[in-house]
Amino acid sequence: MNSTETLLATADSRLLKNYRPAPVVMRRGKGCELWDTEGRRYLDMTAGIAVCALGHGDPGLAAALAEQAGQLIHTSNLYYVETQLKFVEALARRAFAGRAFFCNSGSEANEAGLKLARRYQQVVKAQPQRTEVISFVGSFHGRTVGSLSVTGQAKYRQGFDPLVPGVSFAEFGNLDSVAKLIGDKTAAVIVEPIQAEGGIRVAPPGFLRALRDLCRQHGVLLIFDEVQTGVGRTGTFYGFEQEDVVPDILTLAKGIAGGVPMGVMLASDTVASGFEPGTHASTFGGNPLASAAALYVSNAIDQLGLLKNCVEQGAHLSSKLAGLAARHGGTPRGRGLLQGLDLREGLDAAAVVGKAREQGLLLSIAGGSVVRFVPPLIVTSALIDEAIGILDGVLSGSTSK
Ligand code: PLP
Repeated sequence: MNSTETLLATADSRLLKNYRPAPVVMRRGKGCELWDTEGRRYLDMTAGIAVCALGHGDPGLAAALAEQAGQLIHTSNLYYVETQLKFVEALARRAFAGRAFFCNSGSEANEAGLKLARRYQQVVKAQPQRTEVISFVGSFHGRTVGSLSVTGQAKYRQGFDPLVPGVSFAEFGNLDSVAKLIGDKTAAVIVEPIQAEGGIRVAPPGFLRALRDLCRQHGVLLIFDEVQTGVGRTGTFYGFEQEDVVPDILTLAKGIAGGVPMGVMLASDTVASGFEPGTHASTFGGNPLASAAALYVSNAIDQLGLLKNCVEQGAHLSSKLAGLAARHGGTPRGRGLLQGLDLREGLDAAAVVGKAREQGLLLSIAGGSVVRFVPPLIVTSALIDEAIGILDGVLSGSTSK
């Protein structure tokens, strides 16, 4: 057995079977390219599922991590963390200041947001009846029991009953369906500005603004889950900046520390008062290493002009996907560098993604039928053209089921 076969055999015998990974072991990366243990090169349009904002092998990020690792990796939140405080200052200069709670993933950020919303309503506002949460059909908020309970897709929920009670699901983009569910028992509404895992569905114009007004009218908190749309992915640092609306609670993860695990829950000053010492915590949350990475990524986004690049390359990708749709059918959608092609009826997205990988292009699937592009924010037009060229070839050779 060669070393790749040995590694795959270990995976087969030792790992839980909760993933469906391709039979590939990645070894190193540079920018938007990866190389596996066989030395094969891949063009990466997945960025570790919308995570590696600066791409792979960024020397500045590696140096910032090495320097921090040499000084201090972890101390817990028993003490203040210098890099965390520097990062939170940088974050506060973006479109949402408030107060931050640090954790390690998107699911955890949403857990924190949901807990804070309930506690603020029940303790600060003295409304113990406000226990319920409204979410949306097609949403994805994570895999922990709390975040799964507000995830509006049966395939993720099946077999995990009983989930957290008091959650109802409105139709994404339909304000009337929210208005029917909202009331004096509602603590919060949680929504993704663009349903990403659910198939890259952009909220219709004005929907988030109207949702904001409806929540305010009913004394309900509005949580934006920007785990996938945040950190520049749609062309502004937060997705909501394009919608003229601000939430009460905002959750982030994925790209925030360029691939080092970090989640953040931000809350307005008022709502943040719902957490007092001892009410919520995380051992690793915002530790020196993750915070050093996040600080580096935040600075790099500005210094490298990555928001502008995201807008420009997003427009390029969008025109290329429109071209693919004209040739092969299907519907392109998305914003910035969160886009996809909903394949025409009958095409198998898993087969298309598998064939693309065999030809050296990494893509992922969203919503079952959408081939998703979430490249690093440093992507260039030339790399997008290369990716589109490979996908074009794969679609030309694909026949309906
Ligand atoms: N929220 C959204 C919008 C996501 O896209 C995801 C992951 O895809 C999550 C939450 C869960 O994040 P994590 O996998 O880091 O727990």
